[in-house]
Amino acid sequence: MRLIVTEKNNSARRIAEILGAGAKEASSYKVPYYTWSDAEGDHLAIGLKGHVLNPSFPDGYSNWQKTDLHELIDAKLIKEPTDKNVLRALRKVAKDATSVVIGTDFDREGELIGLEALSEVLEVNSDLKDKVKRARYSALTKDEIERAFANLDDLSYDLAYAGEARQDIDLIWGATLTRAVSLATRRFGSNFLSVGRVQSPTLGLIVERELERRAHKPEPYWEVLARFQHPEEAFEAHHTVDRFWKRDEADAAVAGTKGPGVVSEIGSRKVNRRPPVPFNTTSFAAEASSRLSITPSRAMRIAEDLYMDGFISYPRTDNTVYPSSLPTRELVASLVRIPEFDAAAPLLDGELKPTRGKKESTDHPPIHPTQAVNPGGLDGQHQRVYELIARRFLATFGKPMITESTRAEIEAGSETYFVRGSVVVDPGYAAIYTYARSADEEIPKLEEGQELELEGEPWIVDKETQPPSRIGQGKLLEMMEERGLGTKATRPDIIQKLYDRGYVFGNPPSPTETGIAMYDAFKRYVPRMATPEMTAELERDMDEIAGGEISKDEVLEISRQMLHGTYEEVAHKEEDLAKVIWAGMDEDRILGPCIVCERAGRRHEDGSPNMLRVIRARKSGKRFVGCQGWEPDNPDACDVTFPLPQRGDVFKLEERCSVCGETPRLKVVPLRGRPWNLCLNEECPSMEEMRRRRAEREAARAAKEAGEKDDATADGGGADGAEADAARVDGAGTKTRSKRSARGRRKAGSTRSRSSRSRSRAGS
Ligand SMILES: [Zn+2]
Ligand SMILES: [Zn+2]
Repeated sequence: MRLIVTEKNNSARRIAEILGAGAKEASSYKVPYYTWSDAEGDHLAIGLKGHVLNPSFPDGYSNWQKTDLHELIDAKLIKEPTDKNVLRALRKVAKDATSVVIGTDFDREGELIGLEALSEVLEVNSDLKDKVKRARYSALTKDEIERAFANLDDLSYDLAYAGEARQDIDLIWGATLTRAVSLATRRFGSNFLSVGRVQSPTLGLIVERELERRAHKPEPYWEVLARFQHPEEAFEAHHTVDRFWKRDEADAAVAGTKGPGVVSEIGSRKVNRRPPVPFNTTSFAAEASSRLSITPSRAMRIAEDLYMDGFISYPRTDNTVYPSSLPTRELVASLVRIPEFDAAAPLLDGELKPTRGKKESTDHPPIHPTQAVNPGGLDGQHQRVYELIARRFLATFGKPMITESTRAEIEAGSETYFVRGSVVVDPGYAAIYTYARSADEEIPKLEEGQELELEGEPWIVDKETQPPSRIGQGKLLEMMEERGLGTKATRPDIIQKLYDRGYVFGNPPSPTETGIAMYDAFKRYVPRMATPEMTAELERDMDEIAGGEISKDEVLEISRQMLHGTYEEVAHKEEDLAKVIWAGMDEDRILGPCIVCERAGRRHEDGSPNMLRVIRARKSGKRFVGCQGWEPDNPDACDVTFPLPQRGDVFKLEERCSVCGETPRLKVVPLRGRPWNLCLNEECPSMEEMRRRRAEREAARAAKEAGEKDDATADGGGADGAEADAARVDGAGTKTRSKRSARGRRKAGSTRSRSSRSRSRAGS
């Protein structure tokens, strides 16, 4: 029997469907497999669940406090099974095999997964040693699978070792430095601070931008606008001076403007925008993020689903040039038969000449649809992602988009104004790649010498220069790629990890103070970990291993030596490093000045305001917000407290709420569901609005439930995580807080009993 091992169950099933008409499904240890027979004999296809083995430290290194980190660095790694059932099933079916085909994904990671599986197979059936073949395919389509199985190849051990080296290095570096930093800052258990070879420099990109934003000093400037009458429609024109840096100059421009204006110059030009190049992983994920607002990690998961279903080609690729073997005409012809894509039908009238990107490689083609599917048949985000890929593919054969922009100048007194319009003359590729189509901005028809009366007075708009904007997730992926940080497969997960560890929040990601401090500490004390250079160097080593120029063991040895040195530096400066990180974590707990203390004139001895901060009650472990002005046994001290949701993460959104101006406002990121904003002031209009909407939803649900009373399966708990948490805050706080906050505000500083304070401390 020929054993075919694939990376996932879906691909085993697809291969069985394609190669063995009427293949039968069975299972072993709950792992499905597929069997069929043909002229060549019996076949069995089984799918893994990704990696079957993971590198790990042997027993004896698990105690963080007792393990010497130099020993940890040199520890001989072992392999641990990731899923025992998959291994049992694989070993069982391997016993009867007479040959093996490794059919895992066609990349470094897939080669390694194949090698892992093979080592297990050979353990139970060593006769197979010389009967191993590799099937390399880029899409789960009939043509591609048949081609791959007709041209079986050999497993590339070097490629697998390169993947293995990366895995080992990531484990050793990550574990050592994560432990070193967590120990230095005394963060144990689930609160540990993670450090990663790729993760830390990526955080650096986000932090550097944030620091630029903070360093930005807004500079005021003024713009001058005027409105002119026109037989078609009055329109607005902008002074030809873009920005007046002095107010009196803007005033002078207004004073010098006299009607009627005379159209002095009209110019128009055509702009050709070239069609986009084929998608590789990075440009795909970036586009999904910017055009569809789907995060890169989510977009990749969806693309993997679409690949597994045979709808698109393998989504992990750097290539941006279609191979000549791609049946482009056939694909275009089948796509344009779907009504959604029929705008591309004219492409078939001529020669199909696709655009080419800068990167060309031979492993996988650029991401493209492999099958024409009616997107309406896919669910929500899968539909949008498939459409994006299909439209992009069609667009790469398209004509340029031609827009005509017109600029007219109008002289009015001593001043000159201009107005600009832009109209799409020929949408070209944008007819199918609709995301790129620019909206028309039309202006009335103007002629040189035409006189136009002013409508009202010209006016001045106050503006100020803006800081550089935050880096969106799509842009971040591109920056990681430019710097060689991570691989096309790991980049989205790395970004997700920064969120999971609380180093960044929001979208686009902003760093928390802890995240900034982590980066700052590394830049100061372990600069090697804060910059992308080291990683880029390692990536080059991986390529050399894959190319057979250097052995995996040599690379690991060099890396370990480097890490010994790095850890030595960390240990040496442990205290300073911890101080920097602690200061950041403290910052994150500080939310903003306490308005009650402010009104009562209470402040720190140095004159700085008493701040509200997140506190964890020592006994119950519950968190709440309290004021730095609180002192035990002082009846005149500030006893303001606010409850917090107990689950999920909270971040400072504003020191003082921009809606009510009373208290800090937080962002709550629940474990499940969407993040939401929490103003500590219960009477804030934003919170009233939230309660009103929730009441409406509850009423609607109650009405629905009443209508479905007889239906025993009616779901009573429809609230998502965010709303459920919001309910919990109010539930905990309403009784004492409305009284407290009302009183706190009116009678700031008045004597309050300690008992209510301790009750709320314990109970919040
Ligand atoms: Zn206070
Ligand atoms: Zn508010």
